[in-house]
Amino acid sequence: MRTVTEHQRVVAELITARPPVTLPLSEAEALVLAADVVAGLSLPGFDNSAMDGYAVRAEDVAAASADTPVKLPVAEDIPAGRTDPLTLKPGTAHRIMTGAPLPAGATAVVPVEATDAGTETVEIRAAAAAGRHIRRAGEDVTAGTTVLRAGQVVTPAALGLAAALGIGELSVRPRLRVLVMSTGTELVAPGTPLQPGQIYESNAVMLAAAVREAGADVVAAPMAGDDVDEFRAALQAHVGDSDLIITTGGVSAGAYEVVKDALGGQVDFVKVAMQPGMPQGAGFVVVDGPDGQRQVPIITLPGNPVSALVSFEVFIRTPLRAAMDLPAPGRPQSEAVLAERCTSPPGKRQFRRGVLDPATGTVTSYGPPASHHLRWLASANCLLEIPEDVTDIDAGAPVRVWVLGGE
Ligand code: AMP
Ligand code: MG
Repeated sequence: MRTVTEHQRVVAELITARPPVTLPLSEAEALVLAADVVAGLSLPGFDNSAMDGYAVRAEDVAAASADTPVKLPVAEDIPAGRTDPLTLKPGTAHRIMTGAPLPAGATAVVPVEATDAGTETVEIRAAAAAGRHIRRAGEDVTAGTTVLRAGQVVTPAALGLAAALGIGELSVRPRLRVLVMSTGTELVAPGTPLQPGQIYESNAVMLAAAVREAGADVVAAPMAGDDVDEFRAALQAHVGDSDLIITTGGVSAGAYEVVKDALGGQVDFVKVAMQPGMPQGAGFVVVDGPDGQRQVPIITLPGNPVSALVSFEVFIRTPLRAAMDLPAPGRPQSEAVLAERCTSPPGKRQFRRGVLDPATGTVTSYGPPASHHLRWLASANCLLEIPEDVTDIDAGAPVRVWVLGGE
């Protein structure tokens, strides 16, 4: 049997990054920058008003107060967006709005609240020191500064900064494209009536969501019956430009193991010393593309829904995120205190579903360890990892947990 660690290594080697691409800002969100971003202009780009009010020369309003207001003619009205160059003559004021360019000669802005808001003449009721309520050109960013570094995630604020700098595209590490395929003649799509012996297909939608949650794209998530020709045809029909294929089902020791039957020789089918998720496979499949045949990495997960999702967590999620340069690609792990005794099969690494109480650092194993109890996984917030050499673990003992996302 292959160890979990060894199979993690095999899978990680299969999942490789795509070369950086240049994408418009609207498509770059949540990706990782592949190059530094250097400001081509300064922010603000010009001296402008920080308030709605009046641009003045500070010395003209030095004596102004509520009791001794200073009256000035309003020579110009400057809304944001006015582009013609203006000069403030001594002894006058310009009405000015937030973000509007400061006229040459003005040294302060008096907020409208400290005036009578006049449009012909204005009564200034407070003095303003030189520089007051003026945003200076370049005080946020000076042209030539590196404002974002390669390796940073493109956050909403990073997008805002790029746009403010007039940058329309970013060089980023693209999302990997993943085809998710489930297999089983017993499966029918939710929403269709069930015949006796049939079950609703649940892996495709679950793994597609997990792939997207990990930051990758889903090319398609079809299902195929346990027929080798049907499986091969579905795979070829949906593979498109996928970087990775994930299948579920058809890899254990029974008859009608369609994935094994179709991909023997291309994929290494192994038993991994793990519970759940023992039957696994990894390799390359040859598909037809527009430029001839190509090899696509494929990871074949077992069909039991809990095995499939736990296997995705244990083997695929971290290297998938790492291939997109996402920081902290793995789930956060910590040590928690086990609330009740647990047993684990000898020689296998067990992943139980758990509920971690972050306030106390205690974790309770949640539901049975068997691989078809999806209900428990749906409400768990962590996986408990019990090492291969541990068969019995007492209440109060430390145990490793993988903290899953969500509330
Ligand atoms: P297999 O690995 O194909 O032998 O499947 C193991 C178990 O998981 C069987 O009980 C299957 O019916 C079930 N199963 C396999 N694929 C799916 C799926 N996509 N959705 C729900 N159950 C599945
Ligand atoms: Mg099956």
